[in-house]
Amino acid sequence: MSNELPVLNPATEETVATVPAAGAAEVDAAVVRAARAQARWAALAPGDRARLLRRFAVTVDDHLEELARLEVREAGHTLGNARWEAGNVRDLLDYAAGGVERLTGRQIPVPGGLDVTILEPLGVVGVIAPWNFPMPIAAWGTAPALAAGNAVLLKPAETTPLTALRLAELALAAGLPEHLFQVLPGHGPVAGDALVTHPGVAKIVFTGSTAVGKQVLAKGAAHLKRVTLELGGKSPNIVFADADLEAAAAAAPMSFLDNAGQDCCARTRILVQRTVHDRFVDLLAPAVESVVVGDPADERTQMGPLISRRQLERVRSRVPDDAGGIRGKAPEGPGFWYPPTVLIGVDPRAPVAVEEVFGPVAVVLPFDDEADAVRLANATDYGLSGSVWTRDVGRALRVAQAVRAGNLSVNSHSSVRYWTPFGGFKQSGLGRELGPDALAAFTETKNVFISTEGPAQ
Ligand code: NAD
Repeated sequence: MSNELPVLNPATEETVATVPAAGAAEVDAAVVRAARAQARWAALAPGDRARLLRRFAVTVDDHLEELARLEVREAGHTLGNARWEAGNVRDLLDYAAGGVERLTGRQIPVPGGLDVTILEPLGVVGVIAPWNFPMPIAAWGTAPALAAGNAVLLKPAETTPLTALRLAELALAAGLPEHLFQVLPGHGPVAGDALVTHPGVAKIVFTGSTAVGKQVLAKGAAHLKRVTLELGGKSPNIVFADADLEAAAAAAPMSFLDNAGQDCCARTRILVQRTVHDRFVDLLAPAVESVVVGDPADERTQMGPLISRRQLERVRSRVPDDAGGIRGKAPEGPGFWYPPTVLIGVDPRAPVAVEEVFGPVAVVLPFDDEADAVRLANATDYGLSGSVWTRDVGRALRVAQAVRAGNLSVNSHSSVRYWTPFGGFKQSGLGRELGPDALAAFTETKNVFISTEGPAQ
C-alpha cells in the first residue's frame, strides 16, 4: 500500500493535497505519547479541562468558514452542509465541556460504611472515522472522550484526512496539551488495524461499513477492547394514506439525497400505503427532478458528487440497468456524479431494496395496512433510522415502537442531534453515541466501599 494518500476534489477530480500515511510504527509511537498526555490531562481539575475544551470550541468557531471550505474541497459536500458540520464540531465540544464537572458517580446505601462509584477515564481511545461526515463523526467520539479524561487517536478515512488534521492544529492552538489529540491519516487495514489490535488502546469508536465493523469487533476481542460501532442503514420512510401527502413528498427527496445519499440514516426505502401510492409518486417526481445537483461550492446547490470513483462504481453496480422510476439530473464531465434516482416497481426482496447503496438512490414500495408497513420496514438486516408520516398520533407511536431501529422520527426526517442518543439496532451497530450519556461511555465504573467500622481489634 502506498505511503501517501492523494486527496481528490470529488467535484473536479483535481488533487487537493497529498498526505503521508501512518503505518503501525507511527501508531505505536502515537499511543505511547498519548498515554503520557492522558495521565496529565486526567489529573487536571475538571474545571480546567472544561475551560480548555470550551476554548477549542471557540477556536473551531473562529475557523468555521475555513473548515467548511476544506470539507467542500475534500469531500464534495455542499457549502451549506459543510458549514453545519463545522458548527456541529463546535457544538459537540461545547456540550461535552459542559459535562466535565457533571460526570458524577453515585452513592449507594450499604450497611457498615459508605459506597461510592467513580467514573474513571479509559485511557487512550481510538476513533476510526468514515469519509461521509468526516468532521462530525470524528467529533462524536473525540469530544466526549476528551471530556471524560481520555486521550484520542483519530484515524480519518483515506479520502478525507484534511479537516481532521486541521482540527488537531486548532486543538493545539486552543491550548489542549500536546499529543492529547493526535490525527493519524492512513489506510484502514494498516493504521486502522494497528489501533484496533494495539493493547494500549482501550476503546475503539468505529463508524463505517458493517463488514469492517465486524472485523473490528472480532479483532478487538483479543484484548477485550471496548468497541462502539456505527454501521450501515437502509431506513424506511413510511407514508400512510392519512398523512399530509404534500409535506411527505416535499420532504422525501432530501431525506435520501442529502450528502448525495452517503448517509447511514438516509431514508432509502419509501414505503407508501397502496391507496395513495400513485398520487404520492406524482408529487414526488417533480420534487426529485427539481433538486439542484452541481458545484458543491455554489450556495444554491443541494446535492454534490459522490466521494470517489470507487463509490460511483459501487452505486452503479447496485442499481439494476432495467429499473424504471424517477431520475434527476447530474453534471457531465469530470467529477463523481450520479443523478437522484427513485426506483418504482422493484421486488421488495431485491438487493437494491434491502441492501445499502450509499448513493442518491431510493425505492418506493407499496404496503396494504399498518401491520404490512411494519413487516416491510423490518424486512432488512439494518435498523438505524426511520420515519413515519401520519396524522394519527396513536398510529405514529405504535409504528415508531414496532420498527426495530434506533432513531425514529414522526412527520420529520431528523435523526441526529448532539444532545440525544444515536445508534443502531441489528446490523446497524453496537452501543450509542451522543446524548446525555456520551461521556459515561468513555469511562470505567469503579466501586469503592469505605468501612465506617473501626479497625478490627
Ligand atoms: P470502510 O468501513 O471500509 O471504512 C470506514 C473507516 O474504516 C475508514 O477510516 C477506513 O480506513 C477504516 N478501515 C477500513 N478497513 C479497516 C480495517 N481492516 N481495520 C480498521 N479500520 C479499517 O467503509 P468504506 O469502504 O469507506 O465504505 C464502504 C461502505 O461502508 C459504504 O458503501 C457504506 O455502505 C458503508 N459506510 C457507512 C458509513 C456510516 O456512516 N455508517 C460510513 C462510511 C461507509
